[in-house]
Amino acid sequence: MESDRFFDPTSQYPRPPFSAQPQEWPGLANKMDPPPDHGEKSYRGSGRLTGRKALITGGDSGIGRAAAIAYAREGADVAINYLQAEESDAREVIELIEAEGRTAVAIPGDIRDEAFCRELVDSAVDQLGGLDILVNNAGRQQWKASLLDITTEDFDATLKTNLYAMLWITQAAMPYLSEGASIINTASVVAYDPPEVLLDYSMTKAAIVNFTKSLAKQVVDQGIRVNAVAPGPFWTPLQPSGGQPQEHVKNFGEDRPMGRPGQPVELASVYVLLASQESSYSSGQVYGATGGKGHP
Ligand code: NAD
Ligand code: MG
Repeated sequence: MESDRFFDPTSQYPRPPFSAQPQEWPGLANKMDPPPDHGEKSYRGSGRLTGRKALITGGDSGIGRAAAIAYAREGADVAINYLQAEESDAREVIELIEAEGRTAVAIPGDIRDEAFCRELVDSAVDQLGGLDILVNNAGRQQWKASLLDITTEDFDATLKTNLYAMLWITQAAMPYLSEGASIINTASVVAYDPPEVLLDYSMTKAAIVNFTKSLAKQVVDQGIRVNAVAPGPFWTPLQPSGGQPQEHVKNFGEDRPMGRPGQPVELASVYVLLASQESSYSSGQVYGATGGKGHP
């Protein structure tokens, strides 16, 4: 897609129906049909993050991959975290970052583990030579028809991934962040408009909004900004790997005024803006991209 032209956004990217495409959790971007656009060919940088150092969780695929590619093209060095099972997706991202002549750091591991979260930050800081952008983006979303279907193990896994890890990683990063640093958390439209089948997940996304607003007030005196992004439906492996019933994967995004899901690259510039000094007056904010529904 040539970015110097204007397009009708409703027809810019694939529209449903899509094929059913069940994948085992955590899912791979390289198995999706149609393939998501993370900006591999479309995102063009212009030096907006020159010399910055970023850690992105869930940077192998989906929204995190789009942020990783864009950050590298804007001149940042980037570390990504992901699960071991996602190595094939992660390799593609590492190669794309290196193709920009930037440092790319791959740190696989499970962020449900507190000790690993602290190691992750230390290792990213070591290998990047510092840290000034933290993107808490990894997430777990597994649909359940009823409240009664949510086991303690499910609840624990969702809260550990989406909330505990955000707390642990941000705590570990804080001593390294200095004036001008930016923390960006991936929330969701479900924080404001939860569907029936994502009860535990939606709870965590509402909490991420709240964490963002509290922390923003707490660290403003240190010159650190904290914001969140609240996406609507985006075409990522989160959805076919248990995030939605397959019937809903087939018509994913159809209920949006734009009639289609977002593609990860359509959020790339939001993550760039929030990381860069250009958004210096924005902290404690939540940025939406929901295909015309007006949330948050
Ligand atoms: P994705 O599957 O591409 O990314 C999620 C990533 O989370 C995975 O790649 C994986 O690396 C990571 N992850 C999950 N559990 C982990 C664990 N225990 N340890 C380490 N890493 C783990 O899907 P995505 O949609 O790009 O998701 C990114 C964020 O966007 C998530 O927080 C998700 O909740 C949020 N979000 C997605 C949508 C959507 O429609 N796709 C909408 C709103 C919010
Ligand atoms: Mg992934």
